[in-house]
Amino acid sequence: MVSRTIPVDDFDLVLFGATGDLASRKILPSLYRRFLAGQVPPTARIIGAARSEMDDEGFRGLVREALDSFVSAGKRQEQAIADFLAQCSYIPVDAKGDGGWDRLKESVRDEAVKAFYFSVAPSLFGPLAQRLRSHGIACENSRLVVEKPFGVDLESARKLNADLAASFDEHQIYRIDHFLGKETVQNLMAVRFANVLFEPLWNERYVDHVQITVAETVGVGGRGAYYDTAGAMRDMVQNHLMQLLCLTAMEPPTHFDADMLRDEKLKVIRALDPLTPAEIVRGQYKEGPDGPSYLDDAENPQSRTESYVALKVSISNWRWKGTPFYLRTGKRMTRRLSEIVIQFKETPHSIFDRDEGSSANALTIRLQPDEGIDLSVTIKEPGPGGMRLVNVPLDMTFADALGPDGEEIPDAYERLIMDVIRGNQTLFMRGDEVEAAWAWTDPIIEGWIDRGAQPYKYAQGSSGPEEAMMLMHRDGRRWRELDV
Ligand code: NAP
Repeated sequence: MVSRTIPVDDFDLVLFGATGDLASRKILPSLYRRFLAGQVPPTARIIGAARSEMDDEGFRGLVREALDSFVSAGKRQEQAIADFLAQCSYIPVDAKGDGGWDRLKESVRDEAVKAFYFSVAPSLFGPLAQRLRSHGIACENSRLVVEKPFGVDLESARKLNADLAASFDEHQIYRIDHFLGKETVQNLMAVRFANVLFEPLWNERYVDHVQITVAETVGVGGRGAYYDTAGAMRDMVQNHLMQLLCLTAMEPPTHFDADMLRDEKLKVIRALDPLTPAEIVRGQYKEGPDGPSYLDDAENPQSRTESYVALKVSISNWRWKGTPFYLRTGKRMTRRLSEIVIQFKETPHSIFDRDEGSSANALTIRLQPDEGIDLSVTIKEPGPGGMRLVNVPLDMTFADALGPDGEEIPDAYERLIMDVIRGNQTLFMRGDEVEAAWAWTDPIIEGWIDRGAQPYKYAQGSSGPEEAMMLMHRDGRRWRELDV
């Protein structure tokens, strides 16, 4: 199957935080790959901005290093890199000062789409937005992209929303959650809403439960001090896992339209029940062969912040009442894996003997490491020997099924940046959605702080604390093995 590249309008993209880690690991390489795909018009401008003093050539050197480090060798073509670098320039700008803004104003065009990417600390979102407006740089054709974390609780998220709203309309604001840019996440919507097969079964009558897992093998390492102020609940659940839950649980929107889709996600968040302490398990990794303990990484021996959390979440609406969603995410786990599993119920009556095997289907949507979808179906084990049942996967790994010669699936950032240029907000979070997510999350966090709850310890390279296994065992269910 040949991939289609849809042309985009001419644009100027100003990358605030252009000298930072995210810019070099993700944003600049993604822009280059879209350039290679023919989606960056030759007149488009990529303007780096940060406080560091450097000229265009200095910045191009930085971009070159980023491409050398984070673009695969097969895609590093000398002429293309030279052409791409020629479209990059740099302006020193301080988000909290006045220098550089007039030059920036002269460097961007009113007739092109103007995208301002805030790859900086959230405390700078307000000052940047305000200066873009007061210096007359922003106009109706401008778009703002903001990175996570979008607040640390409801109050701070409201403040960020208010700061941005003072200078930009909601239809100009693109809050990034890179999970939403993943091919599989969009495929979840295609599978649900472009096939007649699944939607009739997608409810409490046929689905026993849903599992959403985001497991990482890395620890909190170099960003331990920051992470210790957040924890797994704020860092992963409030945004990424909640988004996955919403897309799995939401009603079909009338159209695949940004606001209609986000309206449906918002309804799911509002239907989430508050959690009881018995529905929450938190953990911290112990010292292990791969590195120090969480407490050492966080440089806080008294820390009660969780590097792992498992939750049993209930949705009070007609579709899902009685079907739990189990969520888990953690660091230093046995395997890097992100997936959603829709575990269907057993057949209401089996015509086969019990010892011939069970017949519960599961639909697994894998986000990483290899994006794909598989459906486990029960069939007869081939060969003589009577009617023995076996579960086999109907597997669709995208890298195999799509793309000639194993063409790479575009990085989530590539799709999301191009969606910004196209003015398509479908895969970005709306302000009210983020606030609703915090409104559900805040009491959970406040609850365990008030109770003085200590996280359980778990071994590095494991599936998390034993107590998380019990969360499901109590209900007669079990987590999918991480290391299969
Ligand atoms: P970083 O490496 O610390 O980079 C921060 C950038 O902001 C630098 O370019 C810095 O350049 C610039 N900056 C700092 N103060 C400034 C000011 N007053 N005015 C203008 N520019 C200023 O941070 P990062 O890891 O790239 O992260 C950027 C944002 O993305 C953060 O909000 C982070 O939470 C989020 N994020 C990062 C990742 C990741 O993997 N890194 C993932 C998800 C989200 P100068 O010092 O030259 O000014």
